[in-house]
Amino acid sequence: MARPVDLQDDVATVLIPSEQIQAKVAELGTRVSSDYAGREVILVSVLKGSLPFMADLMRAITIPVQIDLMEVSSYGGTTTESTGLVRILKDLSSSIEGKDVLIVEDIIDTGLTLNYLIRYLRGKNPASLRICTLLDKPARRLVEIAIDYLGFTIPDQFVVGYGLDYGERYRNLPFIGVLRPEVYSG
Ligand code: 5GP
Repeated sequence: MARPVDLQDDVATVLIPSEQIQAKVAELGTRVSSDYAGREVILVSVLKGSLPFMADLMRAITIPVQIDLMEVSSYGGTTTESTGLVRILKDLSSSIEGKDVLIVEDIIDTGLTLNYLIRYLRGKNPASLRICTLLDKPARRLVEIAIDYLGFTIPDQFVVGYGLDYGERYRNLPFIGVLRPEVYSG
């Protein structure tokens, strides 16, 4: 992959500008704060893609929260395709038994990764388990996932930015965008 002078030179289209993301995160933060009022929620996010969303969402929530981080990787597959076979690289740091847990995800595509994670976390007996995702790509869903908090529904395109990568690059773009076709082929 050639190194662009400016990352933005590789972007063909901005799908969701930064201002729209920030407005949506504020809205989600308000909803979470009101839904969990009087309780304490544990936000569990999945590295690395959810990092900016988690960082912004937690600051948009006004009730007490705890955070925990997991890291998973898919076995096999290619950079743009998921296999659903998940390996846990980093587990929770604290017990979630009897706690209200909100999973904070970057994107749900086939749903296989999250499906695995939901079953894994349910096995740890939380009081409640809900899903918050910034992006939803329903066109490619293979397993049904009930999303409690949704940012944006997007078309069946591979997107980068605001945490999402292609070959570990582009996570630091402040918007969600689609790369030029030559970036994928080059
Ligand atoms: P799923 O298991 O739902 O198919 O995929 C979940 C994971 O695949 C996401 O957490 C993300 O890491 C990756 N993924 C799915 N769609 C996209 C996409 O459009 N762009 C990027 N960068 N990653 C994606």
